Amino acid sequence: MKPIGILAVQGAFAEHENRLDELYVPWIEIRQRKDLDGPLRGIILPGGESTVMGKLLQDLGLLQPLHDRIQQGLPVFGTCAGLILLAKTISGGESPHLHTMDIAVKRNAYGRQLGSFHTWSDFAGLGNVPMTFIRAPYIEQVFGEAQPLATVNGHIVAARQKNQLVTSFHPELDSDQRVHRYFLDQIVNANGD
Ligand code: GLN
Repeated sequence: MKPIGILAVQGAFAEHENRLDELYVPWIEIRQRKDLDGPLRGIILPGGESTVMGKLLQDLGLLQPLHDRIQQGLPVFGTCAGLILLAKTISGGESPHLHTMDIAVKRNAYGRQLGSFHTWSDFAGLGNVPMTFIRAPYIEQVFGEAQPLATVNGHIVAARQKNQLVTSFHPELDSDQRVHRYFLDQIVNANGD
């Protein structure tokens, strides 16, 4: 089975690796340009610091090839900073990013007081799921072909656009596997590879 690529230049990629291990899904780390040459079933962009990650993607020559693969339909799941990397519009600091998804996001949207928190909310088709937020963004607006999948306090915290799935929370930090399963079943497997 072709592996899922996990971007491993910065941030919380190990937790996604553990989750895919639990689900018996093979993965490889994407650290440099040549890691994208092999066959991939999809890619995960983890949480971390989106400005640092975006700059590293640019410096490592990964930004354009990743952008192109996603535009061509490669399934992608971005969590937190990974969501920011995919957004077409970022308020709170633009930096190099992939720019593939019809969402406008606000970085560090919950301010200092609510920097990190845990809650439960309905996720389209999955019921109530646990959500861990760490200096999280939220989605101010979906447009074009993006659809909201979950909201917390009136703000969109998960969305999908065809092959692209994003959450502003960290499903890899809770033991609940349903959001990763959603990505694998509804997007990766539905893609036919
Ligand atoms: N605040 C970070 C950023 O703006 C995202 C935080 C996270 O990924 N947990 O990139």
